[in-house]
Amino acid sequence: METRDLSAHVPYRAGRGVEEVARELGLDPDGLVKLSSNENPFGPSPAAIEAVQEAAEQIHTYPKSSHTDLTGAIAEQWSVDPTQVWLTPGGDGFLDYVSRTFLHESDRVLAPDPGFAYYPMSARSHGATVDQYRLSKESGFEQSAEVVLDAYDGQRIIYVTTPHNPTGSEMPPEEIERLATEVSEETLVLVDEAYGKFTDQPSARSLIDEYDNVAVLRTFSKTYGLAGLRVGYGLVPEAWADAYDRINTPFAVNKLACIAGLAAIEDDEHIERTVEGSRWAREYMHAELDAPTWPSGGNFVLAEVGDAAAVADATQQEGVIIRDCSSFGLPDCVRITCGTESQTRTAVETINEVLE
Ligand SMILES: *Cc1c(COP(=O)(O)O)cnc(C)c1O
Repeated sequence: METRDLSAHVPYRAGRGVEEVARELGLDPDGLVKLSSNENPFGPSPAAIEAVQEAAEQIHTYPKSSHTDLTGAIAEQWSVDPTQVWLTPGGDGFLDYVSRTFLHESDRVLAPDPGFAYYPMSARSHGATVDQYRLSKESGFEQSAEVVLDAYDGQRIIYVTTPHNPTGSEMPPEEIERLATEVSEETLVLVDEAYGKFTDQPSARSLIDEYDNVAVLRTFSKTYGLAGLRVGYGLVPEAWADAYDRINTPFAVNKLACIAGLAAIEDDEHIERTVEGSRWAREYMHAELDAPTWPSGGNFVLAEVGDAAAVADATQQEGVIIRDCSSFGLPDCVRITCGTESQTRTAVETINEVLE
């Protein structure tokens, strides 16, 4: 038996895991500093851990009420109707739900280059063709409506990442609004705010009241430290919010994820620690790395180091795992996640030694 032709589908390559690297190098995983996947270095919210432990005995039942509870809490936080909150398996799941809702075979989408690998993957697996708009290194990866509109030709979905992964650059809110007004009413502007908690820029959430071609992606993987549970959501305009029940996989988000998410969004102390810690680490890396860096609105910094593959390999030998950005089309850059204070200091020291 053969699959359909998937030769145009590029496999997703995640940042390498601690266990994987430790096994390869024959090191103790606890001694490794893993700053390659933008995870929360402080771990999950303690309230979420407790909630999961308590809920463990209930996992034989479908997550009906836990799903409703989390959706309700998110709706309240954003002042939207619960139907406008699409709970999904990770933020990535929201990308798939949007693909399912909007894409026909022969549709085209417009994604950033460099950019997050799952936009093209999701669109392609739903039959669409992928065009790209370029964020240029020469202009500091600047994001504006114009940069996108230059490449726009009626595509069905435009992906905007702000703060952007892997560059850290941001699209100002007025530029997102301009984009929403200047494209066709049949073009969705999907604003990916996976790193939204780490920036001072306001969310694009306000636009979904006025425009029915804007949606916002958020996730529990980054600030809330729940990457292992796979839970995210989209905020969508009222106009098409009811599509969710037609395209949703039954009980798509698991019970423990719903319960942990509910505990985490109310854990202000954990959120503050995470956001403040990331700010400190960003500033420290900008100041102390012996390599050019770009301003970042996220919990990571992009640095220009020359041969990124060689540098990432050499730091890994020293127990510091960072992301070689060759797969993003930036073979001279690495992305370093904000760690705890001691992890960040170790990483900077190690990278600087390697660069010497
Ligand atoms: C991490 C991330 C997401 C969502 O990740 P999930 O773990 O699936 O929630 C979405 N977009 C970008 C740009 C990301 O970096």
